[in-house]
Amino acid sequence: MPDDYNPKLPCVFIDRDGVITLDVGYCNHPDRLELLPGAAAAVKRLNNAGYLTIVTTNQSGVARGIFTEEVLAKIHERMYELLAAGGARVDALYYAPFHKSAADPKYRDDPHQMRKPGIGMIRKACKEFPIDMKRAWMIGDKPADIEFAHNAGIPGIMVKTGYGLGEIQYKRHEWKVEPTVIVEDIVEAVEWILKR
Ligand SMILES: [Mg+2]
Repeated sequence: MPDDYNPKLPCVFIDRDGVITLDVGYCNHPDRLELLPGAAAAVKRLNNAGYLTIVTTNQSGVARGIFTEEVLAKIHERMYELLAAGGARVDALYYAPFHKSAADPKYRDDPHQMRKPGIGMIRKACKEFPIDMKRAWMIGDKPADIEFAHNAGIPGIMVKTGYGLGEIQYKRHEWKVEPTVIVEDIVEAVEWILKR
């Protein structure tokens, strides 16, 4: 076995709303879900290059009573169908249904810090997949995504889609952490990662 044998895989963690899908606020029906232009092709490029693709998404709409986890599952089925139609797949999806405003303690308490910028979703992914964290990236459109990457010790790539442009133009002075790089969209983010 060569010295550089490494059974672990490179991985790209990807936010959902505003990165893979159009951010419509609280998406509460599968019919509202739309992929952003180029998203399926970008994920497919990662699939073909041997990267794990793992969606990590805050879905506080559950905690806020806007939609149930059953509806969320249907929405994610729709996302997988749309991605598959473009020849792409995500290897896993983790969502954080929590928010401190929830009436139900099941969704109010988040002891494993699943909600981004907590890194519970990355911890869970690392238990379930052979992820090489030295070859891992996060693509997101909000400061919480970039803090999440920073807290996990991986590069955070910010896209201008979703909340990205407004954050970059009007809110940058409030950011706790700067992204490693800012790019137009998931297409450019994948381009950037594959050039590393
Ligand atoms: Mg987002």
